[in-house]
Amino acid sequence: MPDAPPRIVTIPCLADNYAFLLHDPVTGATALIDAPEAAPIRAELDRCGWQLTDILITHHHGDHIDGVGALCAASGARVWGARADAHRLPALDMALEEGDTVSIGRLTGHVIAVPGHTVGHIAFYFPQVQAVFTADSLMALGCGRLFEGTAAQMWESLQKLAVLPGETWVYSGHEYTAANAQFAATIEPDYAPLRSRMAEIEVLRAKGQPTVPSLMATELATNPFLRAARADVKIAVGLPGAGDVECFAELRARKDRF
Ligand SMILES: [Zn+2]
Repeated sequence: MPDAPPRIVTIPCLADNYAFLLHDPVTGATALIDAPEAAPIRAELDRCGWQLTDILITHHHGDHIDGVGALCAASGARVWGARADAHRLPALDMALEEGDTVSIGRLTGHVIAVPGHTVGHIAFYFPQVQAVFTADSLMALGCGRLFEGTAAQMWESLQKLAVLPGETWVYSGHEYTAANAQFAATIEPDYAPLRSRMAEIEVLRAKGQPTVPSLMATELATNPFLRAARADVKIAVGLPGAGDVECFAELRARKDRF
């Protein structure tokens, strides 16, 4: 799409949430991915001069859906979310399952089921803009806490995301990266790619800039939760020869206590 390329805007919400606008300038279609609160999203729509047409929900937690009602009432936007969680999401116009697609103007999003943080969590992958919206599944240098699903489920979810192209931008739901980096350094303290990423994160945060999105290739290289299958990571957590899920579960348990 060389002329009038689509745009993605990051909107800080609440204490540390992110919402995202995905805009196709040719058709005017504008999708919001998650709605932590209405006011900053409405302000950004006004600033850009965009009309909200669609709201894509990743999961049912309040800090991802509490703004849906007000934004819908003002815009009449269509609401898309997981069929599995329809009973605890705002009223859905389109109920989604893995493999379904979402049309936002010229852009097509692919629904990926990523249970673990919650059992109905979904991600949206838009190959035309090299973007995947992962919310609280895969996060920058981290992954979501296992509130409902098992370690095996989350590990499988992360594997589905890990096979996306390395040049895919990962739009996750929170600014947790600095704390995630501190944890990652307890696992691989002398790992140079992690150290250099930590330095970049420090610079960004000192300037008050988001560390989201991050490149999938960077996550694959430095995110300890994506590196749980590696022999050296298994040794680092005291589980040489362990299975991948066992190592991932140990990493997640350590992060919970961190
Ligand atoms: Zn959540």
